[in-house]
Amino acid sequence: MSVAADHLEADFCIVGAGFAGLTAALRLTQAGYSVFVLEARERVGGKVWTHYLDDGTPVDMGGTFLGPTQDRIYALLDEFDLSITPTPNHGDSLIVYDNQVYRYSDDMPDLDASKLAGVWETLRTLSKMSAEVSNQSPWSGPRAKEWDSITLAQFIDAPSRNLSEPARAMLRALFISLFTCELSEISLLFVLFQIAAAGNDIEIQMRVEGGADQDMVKGGMSLVALKMVEKLGDCIIFSSPVTRIEQNEKCATVFSSHVVVKAKQVVVAVPPNLAGAIEYSPSLPATKTELLRHMPAGRCIKFITAYETPFWREEGLSGEVMAPDEFIQMTLDASAPDKESGLLMSFAFAREAILLQEMPPQLRKDTLLNELEKRFGPKAQKPLQYFEHDWFQDRWTQGCHVAHTGAGVITSFGHVIREPFGRIYWATSETSTLWNGNIDGAVRAGEYAAREILAIETI
Ligand SMILES: Cc1cc2nc3c(=O)[nH]c(=O)nc-3n(C[C@H](O)[C@H](O)[C@H](O)COP(=O)(O)OP(=O)(O)OC[C@H]3O[C@@H](n4cnc5c(N)ncnc54)[C@H](O)[C@@H]3O)c2cc1C
Repeated sequence: MSVAADHLEADFCIVGAGFAGLTAALRLTQAGYSVFVLEARERVGGKVWTHYLDDGTPVDMGGTFLGPTQDRIYALLDEFDLSITPTPNHGDSLIVYDNQVYRYSDDMPDLDASKLAGVWETLRTLSKMSAEVSNQSPWSGPRAKEWDSITLAQFIDAPSRNLSEPARAMLRALFISLFTCELSEISLLFVLFQIAAAGNDIEIQMRVEGGADQDMVKGGMSLVALKMVEKLGDCIIFSSPVTRIEQNEKCATVFSSHVVVKAKQVVVAVPPNLAGAIEYSPSLPATKTELLRHMPAGRCIKFITAYETPFWREEGLSGEVMAPDEFIQMTLDASAPDKESGLLMSFAFAREAILLQEMPPQLRKDTLLNELEKRFGPKAQKPLQYFEHDWFQDRWTQGCHVAHTGAGVITSFGHVIREPFGRIYWATSETSTLWNGNIDGAVRAGEYAAREILAIETI
């Protein structure tokens, strides 16, 4: 690796130090190659960002949970000797609808027995349909065009489904908690692909025990990123947003505000909407440009309220709430196991996140606390500490949790999602065939890109 003023040279250059970029860099470095990572922010981790309370309690403001079959993130934890802790989930959960609070004790409520009839059956139908969608090439199945031509909203609202207003509200709440955008903004095929990429069972994506929210990393998810940084040494260059990538028959040149890096291959490990904002010379193929242009990410504001104790447990409550017609559509208990303090993690998604974002900060906070009081009583009004983060307003994310695609996008442009362009490779959670949109998907995407590059190197 040679350094001349702000012109650097390495075997490979990685753009973005989220989990995909860091994992790609780690695997390439472990294979004996030199790497530079250019990161726009002053920190690593991207959509994973652990904040610390005054007493040192870790609080994940972004990606937090992991669960069964997310094998690559668990493998990374093993590699770094990091441990997990089960997500607190003892007691009854709540559904709030039409100002009423309903209590239930199963992991999933017995929806069929309530006025939410049909919700459960719709989820099961979608899981079944996902078996006909390939997680490797969702654009290729016999019904791909048909399912890509309608939105999830059209599927759910179809008269043949015969769903009540509360059932449709509940389905909207469940799906916006996964994709953070309106159901009219995503194609049915996109949703079926997401289910296929998580093992053909949507229940797994929504569950705590036995599902994607089962575990948390002891000490916070950012620890994983920091461990990768330790291994990578000083090859990460911070505050260096990449603006342009040139390539010719000899090499690729990556331009950022601070440095210029020459490399044999480049991995673009930034979300599609931001990858599309980079200038490429020669220009990207039109199909790739169109794909990036049609992969926006939704809206989510995450709120943390910290209390002296997890007082809701005294009432036998787990802290888990779904609230389809409130601003704060979801709440979870995220208290650290070895601390006395109680932590509630609350989310606003899609339209409700927009409405909250447009409120003055004090009104936004009051809205959150009033809704928490309805769920957990007056103690909820008095958190010791309060944080919020709007991921859409965040310059280097601009949306969450995952980029989505509307009707027609996957079948028109989806086939180039992982296709390299000359010396440029693509790796974010959105390029993963498994756990797409999750941290595990990001790790897989980084490892996949590294394998592809190493395969050329060894020819
Ligand atoms: C609120 C929230 C909750 C979530 N909860 C979970 C969860 O519980 N479990 C789970 O598995 N997943 C969760 N996710 C999703 C998960 O965090 C992401 O899928 C994953 O972290 C994505 O990693 P990535 O490397 O693909 O992208 P990113 O994390 O977005 O990394 C991209 C990196 O590129 C940098 N960058 C951007 N543009 C440029 C540029 N031009 N030049 C240089 N650098 C640039 C960014 O700063 C960033 O560091 C959540 C996400 C959010 C936001």
